[in-house]
This record gives sequence, C-alpha cells and structure tokens, in this order.
Amino acid sequence: MIYIEEGFPVNMNKDIKFQLGIEDIPKKWYNIAADSPVPIPPPHNPATNEPASPKDLEAIFPRNLIEQEVSVERYIDIPEEVREAYVMLNRPSPLVRAVRLEKMLKTPAKIYYKREDLSPCGSHKSNTAVPQAYYNMIAGTEHLTTETGAGQWGMSLSQACSMFNMSCKVFMTCSSYDSKPYRRIAMETYGAKVYSSPSNETKYGRAIKEKYPDTPGSLGIAISEAIEMAVQERNTKYSLGSVLNHVMLHQTVIGQELIKQLEMADIVPDHMIACVGGGSNFSGFSFPMLAKKIKGEVDTDIIAAEPVSVASLTKGDYRYDFGDTAGMTPLLKMYTLGHDFIPSAIHAGGLRYHGMAPTVSLMKDLGYVRPVMVEQKATFAAGMQFANSEGIIPAPESTHAIAAAIDLAMEAKRKNEEKVIVFNLSGHGLLDMAAYESYLSGKIA
Ligand SMILES: *Cc1c(COP(=O)(O)O)cnc(C)c1O
Repeated sequence: MIYIEEGFPVNMNKDIKFQLGIEDIPKKWYNIAADSPVPIPPPHNPATNEPASPKDLEAIFPRNLIEQEVSVERYIDIPEEVREAYVMLNRPSPLVRAVRLEKMLKTPAKIYYKREDLSPCGSHKSNTAVPQAYYNMIAGTEHLTTETGAGQWGMSLSQACSMFNMSCKVFMTCSSYDSKPYRRIAMETYGAKVYSSPSNETKYGRAIKEKYPDTPGSLGIAISEAIEMAVQERNTKYSLGSVLNHVMLHQTVIGQELIKQLEMADIVPDHMIACVGGGSNFSGFSFPMLAKKIKGEVDTDIIAAEPVSVASLTKGDYRYDFGDTAGMTPLLKMYTLGHDFIPSAIHAGGLRYHGMAPTVSLMKDLGYVRPVMVEQKATFAAGMQFANSEGIIPAPESTHAIAAAIDLAMEAKRKNEEKVIVFNLSGHGLLDMAAYESYLSGKIA
C-alpha cells in the first residue's frame, strides 16, 4: 500500500492503472443501431425530403464505408491491417485512476479517465482516420479531402493517408489556421496540403469570403469546401472526422476496451462523461455501456459535456438539417443550432459544430444521455487542476469533460458519497498552448 496522503490508501499494483494486452484490441466494432429501441433516422435527400439512397452518398464516400454507414449489424469485423495499425496508435489505451486529482479535490468520489491522448497525433481521431484511409485505399481512392477545426482531425487523417499512400487535402477553419500553426505544420510534415477556410480553392469558399470577409470560418464552411473539391476532382473522396454513423462505429474500440477495464477494476460507473463536438469520442466511449443501459443492466448516468456557446444538445432543435453550411450534404436528423449558425471562436475548436451525430441525438432524445453545458473559463480552470494533479495538459475540448467530472466530484464531496466517475480524456493540449496562454494572461472572460 502506498499512502499518497492519509485517508487515500491506494494499492499501486491493483488500483491505479488498468492496462490491457494487444490481444485485447477489439476484433469488432460495436454498432448502436442494432440495439437502439427505435431505428436511427436515415439521411434524407434534400431535393425530395425522402430517405437518401446509398447511391446518393457514392459521389463522396467509397461503397465499403457507405455499407457501414447504413448497417444494422451489431458487430462489424475490424480488418487485421487496421488492428495492426491500432497497435501503432498505442491501443489498447490505459484506464487510469486520477488519485492525485481526487486528493487535490479532497473528494470521496473515485475518478478514472481513459487515455485517448496517447496516440501519435494526440487524440482519439486516429481511431477512425486509420480505418477510413484503409477502406478508401482498398476501394481505389487516391486523394482524400477533409475539414479540420483545431487541427486534430486533419492531422490524424494526414497521418493515416501517409500510411496508406494517399494524398490528403485539408480545409482548416481560418481561426485555427492562424492560431494553431503547429498542427498545420504537422499535417504538412505528413505530406498533406492545408488550406485556410474559407479559401480561394472552391466556389463556395470564394463566395463566403466575399460576403463575410472577417469570418473566423467554421467546420460547416470547411466541410462544404472539402465536399465541393471531392465531387469535382478525379479519384477523390471526402472523409469526415465525426457525426456520421461509421465514424461513431470506429470509435467504439474505446468503450469496448473500457468495459473490460471496468471489470478489471471491479467498478460500475455512476457517471460517465465525454465532451461533444460532433459526438464521436462520446459515442466511442459510451455506446458499449449505453447498450447495457438500454437493456436495463446498468443505470449509469451518461453525460455529454458541451460548450455554453455551441450547446446543440441543450439548446438546439431535434430536426432534419444540413451537416454543412452550404447545404451540400444530405439532411441529417439531429440536434442542431441551424446549419448557418457560426459558433463564436472558442479555443475548443473541435467543439465548434452546429449539429450533433444522429446516433447521439437519438440517444439524447430517448433520454439515455444527459447533456451539460460548461463555460469556457471553467473548462480552463478544470484543465489547470488536471494538469497540476495528474500531470497531463488536456486538450481544450477534453477540459469540458474534466470540468463536468470535477463538478460531480465536488457534489459527491458535499453529500459525502463515494461516487464512481469515469471520463474520456479525448486528447492532450500540447499543441494548444496559445489557448492556455489566453487563459493564463486573463484574456478569457
Ligand atoms: C475533435 C475533438 C473533439 C470533438 O469531436 P467529437 O467528434 O465530438 O469527439 C473532442 N476532443 C478532441 C481532443 C478532439 O480532437
């Protein structure tokens, strides 16, 4: 037994870190569509407002990924090439008990976090970047286009494309392009071409620039540009880092590993928390447990932490809307702030999206998911506490989950309850130092 402080007995061999072996990397992805009590609403064709046919999607996605998008099979095999690449991404990722954070908060709650910051690109995004690049490669795609906010997605896809010998073109929202040069340089290091969005490369980009010369850009605008380019250029497909069903599917390696790790730790979480932008790290982390909740096997409170300024689940309407700003995508049934909503330039660039994944939206609508909103300043305060206890500087996106976890740990303290809180650390913040500088110098109100 080591005593980090009196009253905090921890067995270092048993209680601190739950690490699986390579053989525990899941062999299948888990598909929530199989267990949802009502079908996931399909995408609609905007011209007819009828369900889109898979053919409508073929202009931008390869057929193998479209099959996953519409699948209702509970499990989908992970190709061996992708499992092998997951080893390189440091899977399985550890589950860690936040002993030092508990001590700092003096809470009786037990706090655990799943470390998705350990992949070479520093976030969960590679869990889907790698399979998307792989499936495109075997379908004969030569070039992928995409959008990126803070740059994590663009970086992960650039890395995955370099792995499978494809070129990558990334539209990066101009607010991030200017404030996060190192992610852009990382993408270029992996051989990608990066454009500040809105750009002069596309018709839509040029139109937006003319109409709103001072726009900070948005993910919705960047998606429109990437799709326009994918439709127009030869052997070019588009890749999306969140929102779509197949992206949520790929991320479920997180939650399947987590279920095994919770068994090792012999705990059932009272609360599970992840931040939500488009919903992918949240889905991957929580859907395998949510399946148990649907079946009535657990009663875990599953929380989606979102920014006050882009609170699609809390403040949005549940309706069909476009996934992008220009209205080029099929309509998706989701909680949305409106496809022309331009979020304020918060530092958590990965959360600046007007909508929410149709799967996450449905689970919220059915009452299985509880959204909470967090103020930007509180998220950085939580990030500072985490950095100074656990030693990891979290991504500004991830600090939303940390802030919600700390709130619950403090509530447990007030009520003297030994709650079990598990959150997803979706990424590290080592390339987000400008954001921390703003906080440290008092510029975040
Ligand atoms: C992109 C990103 C998010 C938000 O995207 P989701 O699809 O909601 O997961 C959250 N955290 C990090 C570190 C990210 O890179």
